[in-house]
Amino acid sequence: MCTTGTGDPQPLLNFFIKPDSEYCRSWPPDNKDFRRRYRWPEPFHDLENKGLNRASTVLDVLSAVCNFKEYGQFTAVSLTLPPDGRVIITIAQNGINMEVIHFIHELWASLTNLFSLHHNTQWPPHAEKMSPMERQEARDQTKHILFVVHRHGFRRAAHTFDKGWEECTSFMKFWESTTSGDTKLRNIIRRAFKLMAAIRNIIHNSDLDRISDIRLNVLVEFMHELYASSEALFRERITLNKWIDEFQTVNKDGISFAHFLKECLSVHSYGMRLCHFARSCGNRHILHERTLYVKTLRCEAINLQHLFDVDLDSYGYTLFDNMQRILGQWQKWYSGYPERIAKWTEKLEKTGIIHPELMLLSHHHQQATLPPRLFHGEYGCETRTLPLEYFGTSKPPCYGCAMTFRAYRKKANGKKWTSQFFVQEQTIHLKVCAPWALPSFGDEASDNHIRYHLFDQLLVDYAKFHAY
Ligand SMILES: [Zn+2]
Repeated sequence: MCTTGTGDPQPLLNFFIKPDSEYCRSWPPDNKDFRRRYRWPEPFHDLENKGLNRASTVLDVLSAVCNFKEYGQFTAVSLTLPPDGRVIITIAQNGINMEVIHFIHELWASLTNLFSLHHNTQWPPHAEKMSPMERQEARDQTKHILFVVHRHGFRRAAHTFDKGWEECTSFMKFWESTTSGDTKLRNIIRRAFKLMAAIRNIIHNSDLDRISDIRLNVLVEFMHELYASSEALFRERITLNKWIDEFQTVNKDGISFAHFLKECLSVHSYGMRLCHFARSCGNRHILHERTLYVKTLRCEAINLQHLFDVDLDSYGYTLFDNMQRILGQWQKWYSGYPERIAKWTEKLEKTGIIHPELMLLSHHHQQATLPPRLFHGEYGCETRTLPLEYFGTSKPPCYGCAMTFRAYRKKANGKKWTSQFFVQEQTIHLKVCAPWALPSFGDEASDNHIRYHLFDQLLVDYAKFHAY
């Protein structure tokens, strides 16, 4: 395996990989020839094997429901269970809304209530032994969880409807003029469209911050029904796709009907998954008799001017020299390349916002590496306890962040660091984001370690691109 020295990975990602990744169908590039000769630096982890699966799903959902803005907001969440009986939720977010604290408290109270109703009366739990009154109460709590999630979640749904509604209606008009498909399926799609129209009507004519419980109840009922009919539609997606293909031959602007439906339903499915989490007895260690404590981290904006001051000629020369070693073939830092890179850097903003999952990683690393003399009292209890190994994210991490987590998981000088931390990873296509910035991990040794391994990872992928 290559050893490439301690280059700063940030110019490589922002100035070289980002512009080149736009010529690729996916990043990292899938070069079969390369794969035969070089193994992947580290296999993608398998959450199932690590027993992280249950917590991971709900932490991703929790991150997604913490987004308050219609778009452009990203959230990462970690969960710590210190021995003093608290449950600490740390939320990292860009442009953090302070209402998120009240929101999490309200949601968590409902989740723990629902858990108690299902599991407190007897152990091991038997839901069927609940009294009619308890059962009614559990139904009310479920509804309350859905209300809490939907009340602000519909802001995002409203945005989805604004974006895709016109396309959706023109698709339906076109579809009504066709006759293929069986009557049952045609009725389901008609019903789903009617439901979407009704939902859109309510959310466009309501002040979502002040929406009454009665209206919210109607919305939730509609969403339940839409959810049920969508399941049937997803089963029949071959026929649906045929209709959409026909529609696209006459209409330039295509529509992904399934994608649109999924987006509309996401709020509802988040709510349902949270209810499921609260009913499951396996989450006793999280939901039973713990006091909630919420911490927020605002994503830092970093001035990246120092990256723009790097001598790109010599950085690029060293880069291609290293790639030559990896590939075993001549890689030319060819003429015209420096100009192309320079042109790209001119367009790039000089401030990078640290992505929320990296804010969490840096925060927890710094907490865990504090000197022991600071470990006392409530604060000490918190810092001594590591969070769950999995951090939730409202969407899959970008390429830079996913690779930083990988680099973090490599042990420094044979010494195991505080913990292995994981986030959801997509194995096929990772989005390369720029400007992208690396946070500080609190001390020089940690920073160097991350930079070193990250640079290595990025360079191998970049060499793959040039090996075509
Ligand atoms: Zn990222």
